[in-house]
Amino acid sequence: MKKREWMRLSYFGITTVLFHRKVPVIGSIILTDRCNLSCLHCAVNNITSELYPYTRIRADMEGMYADGIRFLLFYGGEPFLWTDDGITLRELVIEAKKMGFLVVNVVTNGTFPLDLPEADLIMVSLDGSRDRHNMIRGDTYDCIIKNIEEAAADNVCLYMAINHINQEDVEAVCETAKKIRNVKCISFNFHTPYPGTEYLGLSRKEKKDCCDRIARLIRGGYPILNLKSALPYVMNNSAKLPCYQCIVVENGSRWTCGRCKDIEGLCKECGFFFATEFSLVFSGNIKVTADMFKTYSKYF
Ligand code: SF4
Ligand code: SF4
Repeated sequence: MKKREWMRLSYFGITTVLFHRKVPVIGSIILTDRCNLSCLHCAVNNITSELYPYTRIRADMEGMYADGIRFLLFYGGEPFLWTDDGITLRELVIEAKKMGFLVVNVVTNGTFPLDLPEADLIMVSLDGSRDRHNMIRGDTYDCIIKNIEEAAADNVCLYMAINHINQEDVEAVCETAKKIRNVKCISFNFHTPYPGTEYLGLSRKEKKDCCDRIARLIRGGYPILNLKSALPYVMNNSAKLPCYQCIVVENGSRWTCGRCKDIEGLCKECGFFFATEFSLVFSGNIKVTADMFKTYSKYF
């Protein structure tokens, strides 16, 4: 992001905190729930399998921009499966950039060619070392690594959801990131225990252990996009959630923070680091805000 864009975003952030505005800043658009995988922890794939119409998505992008949102994410299901009358995900990213969104990221399972140089970050799910990743996501590890190595740009962010199976692999994913050309950074989340997947969740003690290790890795210079200062809040689920600065839209429906907001008690066990991080920033936590500027300016 250019300096001028950071200034605009900072102004928006500071006034949001000062005036206690509950306006959204980060928007996510679900393009489809269709997916070619069926991961162990997933509660959202192939419920309708619909590819949502371009006109709906374009209207949602315009609506979000008009509301002041400047961080945009496209995800699914698997967003690379989305197409409408010849329009593809890549065109959506280009349009979003032209529209004025400052950061446009895509979240993908990485099993399709990563030909998306216009995205700021392509968040590619990699849930551990080869064996553990494949246990969770099917036999996909080698295909994903190949796609990352052959990506059109060095804009890949490894995206790991830490759970009961792969918690020992935090360091392994960091080492993989270091080795592979095209990987810019790594972003961690904890598994959010959606109904039916509670057995994959971590205890407080396990979360603390993972956070201590992530903090060590950050201090060791690994390119981690998470904020060290927010880790104590993440491990204790002590930030105020849901986060009012994040919204999600799917085919015209809109949720604050995530679709999971409607699941009784889930926000108290939320594993999404960004929800905690943005909630802390917009509730005026100076230390986390400074950490966000320092960390994000390295990768955007
Ligand atoms: S790739 Fe994503 S949407 Fe598809 S099954 Fe796995 S977690 Fe679910
Ligand atoms: S805080 Fe709640 S709504 Fe937001 S991502 Fe977490 S579980 Fe979902």
